[in-house]
Amino acid sequence: MADLAQQVRGGDRRALAQAITLVESTRDDHRRDADALLEAVLPVTGEATRVAISGPPGVGKSTFIEVLGLEVVQRDHRLAVLAVDPSSRRSGGSILGDKTRMADLAREENVFIRPSPGGTQLGGVARHTREAMLLCEAAGFDVVFVETIGVGQSEVAAADMVDLFLLLVAPGGGDELQGIKRGIMELADVVVVNKADGDLAAAAGRTAADYRNAVHLLRPKWRTWATEVLTCSALEQRGLDQVWEAIERFEEDIRASGELGELRGQQAKAWLWTELQDSLVDRLRSDPDVQRLLSDIERDVVAGTITPSAGARHVLSHFPTGTGKRSKRPRVV
Ligand code: GDP
Repeated sequence: MADLAQQVRGGDRRALAQAITLVESTRDDHRRDADALLEAVLPVTGEATRVAISGPPGVGKSTFIEVLGLEVVQRDHRLAVLAVDPSSRRSGGSILGDKTRMADLAREENVFIRPSPGGTQLGGVARHTREAMLLCEAAGFDVVFVETIGVGQSEVAAADMVDLFLLLVAPGGGDELQGIKRGIMELADVVVVNKADGDLAAAAGRTAADYRNAVHLLRPKWRTWATEVLTCSALEQRGLDQVWEAIERFEEDIRASGELGELRGQQAKAWLWTELQDSLVDRLRSDPDVQRLLSDIERDVVAGTITPSAGARHVLSHFPTGTGKRSKRPRVV
């Protein structure tokens, strides 16, 4: 793994792609290699500006990511575009993997685009995207976009791994009309009204004013940053410079105030707990004693003859708490 880590750190794109495939694997031996690899690159991660880009289908997300991405590379950054898409399948390829999407951006030398890992379980997909992000950072990509595809939980999962959450909306219609939930609004650090062009220009201005009023009423997420609302036209490539400048200002402000460090710390702690919960449940499910018990307990719970909490306690009472072999405390990097 030392070789692969070295190649990734050297910015070798093929090694990076191979490393991401490794962290996406579910095989136990691959997982051990992946852990070693991540440990080896960890000291050179964390330097990127991490941005989630979210918005309802049809809002112009892929057009927007393409032109914002071009703006970013013109400013001498190296950009990685990742996705959280729990519905994607390896074989079918996610929307991001579609060659016609972001074709200009994909041709750029300083851009690395990776489709969402496959899988229907959001937890697994989110973990892989997060680890892919660390690998991209180690390979020298200093801006990472995480696109969310699909609705609901993938936005929250993406928000938990980035610094800035950018919500893209279209002119006209309140947020209910656009299917944007209040919870998603609360995540937004920058709201961008796209399609501010032609006949839609005036409506875009009104929509931006509506969003400014709406975000005003929300509880502030940061001490030093108030949610900004901007307009742009991805199609006519206007307003993207302001969007990128807002992202830069955000990152500078929260870094200077210490909030970025706090955020990254909280995210790492939350991630630790997610990992603990997931691995405990995996281990529980694969325990032979528990497996024998579970079908009976599930049947009784379905029949209503025992309560779910009594069933859970009973199962847990048959589950060995320790894992047997103790591993060494991970090396401090
Ligand atoms: P996605 O589904 O959110 O990824 O949206 P797409 O990027 O595929 O765009 C959906 C449609 O909106 C396409 O027909 C685009 O040409 C159009 N579109 C994207 N950006 C703009 C824009 O800035 N202005 C206008 N008028 N149309 C846009």
